[in-house]
Amino acid sequence: MTVERILPSDEAYELLELTREIAEGELAPRAARYEERGEFPRDVLRTLGQAGLLGLPYPEADGGAGQPYEVYLQVLELLASKWVAIAEAVSVHTLSCFPVAAFGTERQRKSLPDMLGGDLLGAYCLSEPQGGSDAANLATRAVRDGDDYVLNGTKAWITHGGHADFYNIFCRTGGPGAAGISCLLADAATPGLLPQKPERTMGLRSSAPAPIVLEDARVPADRLVGEENGGFRIAMQALDAGRLGIAACAVGLAQAALDHAAAYAKDRTQFGKPIAAFQGVGFMLADMATQISAARALMLAAARLKDAGRPFSTEAAKAKLFATDMAMKVTTDAVQVLGGYGYVSDYPVERYFREAKVLQIVEGTNQIQRMVIARSLTRD
Ligand SMILES: Cc1cc2nc3c(=O)[nH]c(=O)nc-3n(C[C@H](O)[C@H](O)[C@H](O)COP(=O)(O)OP(=O)(O)OC[C@H]3O[C@@H](n4cnc5c(N)ncnc54)[C@H](O)[C@@H]3O)c2cc1C
Repeated sequence: MTVERILPSDEAYELLELTREIAEGELAPRAARYEERGEFPRDVLRTLGQAGLLGLPYPEADGGAGQPYEVYLQVLELLASKWVAIAEAVSVHTLSCFPVAAFGTERQRKSLPDMLGGDLLGAYCLSEPQGGSDAANLATRAVRDGDDYVLNGTKAWITHGGHADFYNIFCRTGGPGAAGISCLLADAATPGLLPQKPERTMGLRSSAPAPIVLEDARVPADRLVGEENGGFRIAMQALDAGRLGIAACAVGLAQAALDHAAAYAKDRTQFGKPIAAFQGVGFMLADMATQISAARALMLAAARLKDAGRPFSTEAAKAKLFATDMAMKVTTDAVQVLGGYGYVSDYPVERYFREAKVLQIVEGTNQIQRMVIARSLTRD
């Protein structure tokens, strides 16, 4: 189904058209096969980089495309509608460029054109095996030794782990809690930075996360991003914006599920009629469509606040919460509309259903989003 969009510029319409062509030509034909094989499509990310789609919300002076966040999110949404793992990869890469773009030294920022152009793929390493939600309690330690920091610990669930060229590693350089955390930018080639076997995931198998073990990994001290012990603020700011990327993945995925379910309901006949003609099915489709529109509106409202330079953190949490819960419901209903055919891998909706689940977990579980929203209601 074509979604009516009001975009802020002619350039944005062209960008979405280009994205649609790439999504249909390059992503759609490969998604099912790559998900089945669990193969990471690095070349697809290069293609997206060459098309200028990997640095969209960053300034042109840094090698980005200078696009408003609301445009970037709609690009992600279109990518997600054809292959959500790719949209999530773009979202994680965009998030991974944030620390250097916003807090990097002049020297670190020299890498930005290669990062934003997609020659260098990024990873964001906050979670650890003993805790993801309570990130301020992380245990990976970095100890200053001469001109280096020496890192020891394990980072868990790292998207692009083993494929990335640079890793933002959040690690403890000071005392306990959020005030003792720094952000270090490590090259993939760092001795002692050891990506482990990828996890065997329910969905997003083509971009499965991997643990990263750090064993006396030496990262030069000039790779500290921002101030020592100032890393937690960087991590949280990156996540505020990143959560909107996850909301966009959810909206695109749900739209794909609805489109598939609606087309199926039109064709499939029972009792001598297309099943879409039964109110029980038609109303389900109507609710799916309404929920998707509501999630898209919430996501774009938060993005417009960000684009206007206004606080957007709570609105981003609401958008992530609502859009990802919505995607879980919509993909579940899409399976229902297809009946038995929804439960087998001959049709993509069972994959959409598996893929939706993780969006409720990553970049802060939906319980954590509710905590963020509840806190904002009671803050003085
Ligand atoms: C496919 C995938 C990709 C990922 N990619 C990355 C990545 O690139 N980088 C990265 O750093 N991390 C990544 N993650 C990790 C992800 O962010 C964490 O899994 C998530 O933050 C939850 O942490 P946890 O798994 O340790 O669960 P836990 O924190 O142990 O939570 C378990 C359950 O308890 C609930 N809970 C915890 N605390 C509270 C509370 N205070 N109130 C109410 N409920 C609570 C949670 O909501 C959850 O339901 C990825 C995870 C997956 C599955």
